[in-house]
Amino acid sequence: MSTDLSKGEHTFKVLLYYMFVPIDDPAMLATEQHDLCSELGLRGRILTSKEGINGTVSGPNDACDAYVAHMHADPRFASMVFKVDPANDHVFRKLFVRVKDELVTFRAADAPPVWECTGQHLSPEEWLEMMQRDDVVILDGRTGYEFDIGHFRGAIRPDVDSFREFPEWIENHLGEDKERPILTYCTGGIRCEKLSGWMLKAGFKNVYQLDGGIVSYGKDPNVLGAKWDGKCYVFDERIAVNINHTDDRKVVGRCHHCGAPTETYRNCINVECNLQHLVCPECEQRMEGACSISCQTAPRRHAPQHPHPYHSSATPTT
Ligand SMILES: [Zn+2]
Ligand SMILES: [Zn+2]
Repeated sequence: MSTDLSKGEHTFKVLLYYMFVPIDDPAMLATEQHDLCSELGLRGRILTSKEGINGTVSGPNDACDAYVAHMHADPRFASMVFKVDPANDHVFRKLFVRVKDELVTFRAADAPPVWECTGQHLSPEEWLEMMQRDDVVILDGRTGYEFDIGHFRGAIRPDVDSFREFPEWIENHLGEDKERPILTYCTGGIRCEKLSGWMLKAGFKNVYQLDGGIVSYGKDPNVLGAKWDGKCYVFDERIAVNINHTDDRKVVGRCHHCGAPTETYRNCINVECNLQHLVCPECEQRMEGACSISCQTAPRRHAPQHPHPYHSSATPTT
């Protein structure tokens, strides 16, 4: 599903961005965002909250540029970083703008506001150097299905189904040694802002986060995505994108049915199940797009040519 567009002309862009900043009226911001994006012809998902904004949108180059300029003209978002991917078309079907309690649902009562407390940011070069030390823990700040198609070499896969489950998992699995350096990373960096802040409050002493997340790491000309294996799961129709542009890259995804290496995610063809699973071409054909024998004979089916890219309706965007 993903295409390497690093060479050649492209007419569309995909923007990925967030900013933690106090917002007095998130509902008004949502309305403004909806009007602005509609006018510019942008599609995607934007969340607003009292703690800031988080979005990913696609659109023609000039529309994306106009959006960035508009946001940077707003003092609240003047320093917002946009990660930009080239594209040939929209990667979203619609525009959704929602007001949420939190930009990423964490619901940890003891999590401090990000602008008060967050882990130390590491540049891609600092990250690459630090992750090769043997005294560090590399903690994937995402959920299992994201880890399974690609992750940093040596990273821990937290056994969680949602971001909310992280505090308990971390206490149970890493709580013994709070001095040991912990390096966290996620897609675009937003989840680690919260996660690392919570870890500091929970008594962990050395908490670091990858600045700009995996997406920025893959674009950095000095590291070229080194030590990343597989692809990076993204929350749009591309499903996964390339990160590691060096020769040293392994496929880590494994077929749900036979264990063969693969980098293809599909949603189960049974509408009631919809399980997103990695599948090899042979098993996809043999199972007719179903995740199990019982799903293969289920009455309600997706059209096989249109796998749903989203794992759930309220996913974080970065
Ligand atoms: Zn297979
Ligand atoms: Zn199924």
